[in-house]
Amino acid sequence: MTTVFVVNSGSSSIKWELIDVESAARLRGSIVERIGEPGAVADHAAAMVGILAELGDELPDAIGHRVVHGGSLFDEATLITETVERQIGALSALAPLHNPANLLGLRAARAAFPGVPNVAVFDTAFHQTLAPDAYTYAIDSQVAAAHGVRRYGFHGTSYQYVSRAAAEFLQKPRESLKLIVFHLGNGASVCAIDGGRSVDTSMGMTPLEGLVMGTRGGDLDAGALIQLGRAGLSFDDLDRLLNRRSGLLGLSGHGDMRDVQSAARAGDDAAQGALDVYHHRLRHYLGAYLVGLGGVDAIVFTAGVGENSPATRAATLRGLEGFGIELDEGLNRARQGGARVVSSARSAVTVLVVPTNEELEIARQTAAVVGG
Ligand code: ADP
Repeated sequence: MTTVFVVNSGSSSIKWELIDVESAARLRGSIVERIGEPGAVADHAAAMVGILAELGDELPDAIGHRVVHGGSLFDEATLITETVERQIGALSALAPLHNPANLLGLRAARAAFPGVPNVAVFDTAFHQTLAPDAYTYAIDSQVAAAHGVRRYGFHGTSYQYVSRAAAEFLQKPRESLKLIVFHLGNGASVCAIDGGRSVDTSMGMTPLEGLVMGTRGGDLDAGALIQLGRAGLSFDDLDRLLNRRSGLLGLSGHGDMRDVQSAARAGDDAAQGALDVYHHRLRHYLGAYLVGLGGVDAIVFTAGVGENSPATRAATLRGLEGFGIELDEGLNRARQGGARVVSSARSAVTVLVVPTNEELEIARQTAAVVGG
């Protein structure tokens, strides 16, 4: 049995799971929240000591950390050394909210579990296969290079897990498949995967670009930000606007897809409008990636919305029979867990729902790094 302690450390929370890699079983797991708030645990170090006590004798073989930004430095899961830790810190310039929080978790884990190896699994690593034409923003190349302005992409751990699971489900080698995977959770992105390699993805230098999300708006004319800045909004105002007050929430007043859908069903025009924008953006990327890949074997939906919302899948793929894409209404609406087909027998392109499991993927990659 190889057990991996998977840590997802945010600025005020630590989500953790203890996973047995061979059986893929989740042995334990919980979340410590409100770290640093009155009445709660003081800091990440104290939270980790509490988790250690909860684990008792079950010391893990390795610790796998979700790290949001690996920049152009990391294209795979990496054993954490002092140098690697310093590099993750330096990449905070690209992910000021996430990487410092990930580092807090890392340092706390090292102190609480001395002698257990720590591995960083980066959200960006899977997309390091992007070619320059896909990752380059067309701005002054010297400015871009000086500040690391390029597309990195995120949700890579999920794409890695889901593309492998989809290939297994289809009983085809991953190397032979062209896939478009929609990861639709609170954060959302889409990825074009050719032969197991990411060739395009909708999130960019930061997780703000691309699809409409719960509270983030995705694609936006950069010129609008210049105008808003001139109109008096500060950088902090813009950060709040773009990260917390946009997307479904900004358009409808609801950030959770279930609430938006039920408000729309009840006749709320703003909610219906938000759904229309959400679906329009999904179709925009679907079209782009169909062309980019030169055809596709399977379209895959994953994460909270992707796995659970037949209406979202139907709206995304509506009227595409001419492209060989057709849902089966019954299969699409069926309530069933696990990976499954939701396209019709006639559909040339297979449409799948594949539940993601980022924690298991982190555990597997961590075990692979530590196992050599
Ligand atoms: P996170 O990105 O935080 O991991 P999830 O992948 O859990 O989030 O996705 C959360 C989103 O999934 C929420 O918007 C939630 O409303 C949506 N969701 C969950 N179940 C359903 C459902 N049955 N129908 C529509 N949306 C759903």
